[in-house]
Amino acid sequence: MTNVDVIIAGAGIWGSTLARRFAEAGRKVLVLEKRQNVGGNVRCEIDSETGIEIHSYGSHIFHTSLPQVWEFINRFTTFNGYQHKVLARYKGKTYFLPLGLTLVNSFFNVELTPAELPEFMADEKHSSAIFDAFFRGYTSKQWGRAPEDVDPSIIKRVPVRSTYDVNYFNDYCQGIPLNGYNSIFENLLNHPNITVKCGLGVKLEDGVFKVGTDELPNVPLYYSGPVDALFDYKLGVLPWRTLRFETERLDIADYQGTSVVNYTEAEVPYTRIHEFKHYHPELKDIMAKPKTIIMREYSAEWKLGDEPYYPIDNLKSRELLAAYKVEAAKIPNLVLGGRLGAYKYFDMDKSIESALKVEIN
Ligand code: UDP
Repeated sequence: MTNVDVIIAGAGIWGSTLARRFAEAGRKVLVLEKRQNVGGNVRCEIDSETGIEIHSYGSHIFHTSLPQVWEFINRFTTFNGYQHKVLARYKGKTYFLPLGLTLVNSFFNVELTPAELPEFMADEKHSSAIFDAFFRGYTSKQWGRAPEDVDPSIIKRVPVRSTYDVNYFNDYCQGIPLNGYNSIFENLLNHPNITVKCGLGVKLEDGVFKVGTDELPNVPLYYSGPVDALFDYKLGVLPWRTLRFETERLDIADYQGTSVVNYTEAEVPYTRIHEFKHYHPELKDIMAKPKTIIMREYSAEWKLGDEPYYPIDNLKSRELLAAYKVEAAKIPNLVLGGRLGAYKYFDMDKSIESALKVEIN
């Protein structure tokens, strides 16, 4: 492990972007990944029986309005032009999200125009009915707490519009990689200046970074694992939501006619069902096969040993995070990032943006 200028601990989207940038700047980069594969939670697997790309950690749709991110990622893949739509199933009926004319008109069985929608929704009776049907149950399942106890920025991720536009995101740059998500990581990390080693977790012992009992070279280290784990939880445990998935292969061509259906009632135990073949409509053979794969997603409170997915942003966790950042600042050469390292609800593009902002020196 000599002749290394930079160490990247964690080969998710943040770490892999950084590794590429350092490599292109002429630095020798060692990437250490705790799991057996690179890609973090963007990792997918191709089902051998159906050829369907399964998003192993839940649906990932690339979307951005950041030109520098779109330009960067397009160096490593070609997108298929998929535009994401999310349907919501409530009391046996299916509606288009997000909150806009399509949803409101079909839910109340009215024919409002864009100009009439704001006044209609200003009526508390209408806004509460929409909130209770589509947000209250889903949010309480997703976050394990009443929507009033969830940071408002989270629900605001879902756009509100006065048009019939049912694109789930406001970003016009969107898609699924034609050659699959894993190929992005293969391409990002395929550089003569990058060495990747999987199955090696980095730990900090008495201020020294180690893998097993081996000390790592004393060079800048970019860490995208959980920050509290790095410090052996000495100040406390940062809270997360975790997910559990149930995957089923079905002998039908199409289960739900779309990639994601949210089940917004509290009584349905899962939050949503993913049907992955719909992410690749260009793969006509796979689309036509009388086989599909669906995945039910369940959300739960995280405990040590579970996979962390969503940071829980509240006063207590912000204070704990700030305290860990003080500890991290005492370690020379350490930079934290990514969803886990920064403890931020980053989308993929925001993770890349943050990696593009890191100073390369
Ligand atoms: N949300 C909801 N109902 C929905 C979709 C979203 O209440 O049908 C709320 C929920 O609190 C969720 C948040 O909006 O956590 C953000 O939704 P998004 O689809 O961005 O979540 P992600 O896909 O990142 O899990």
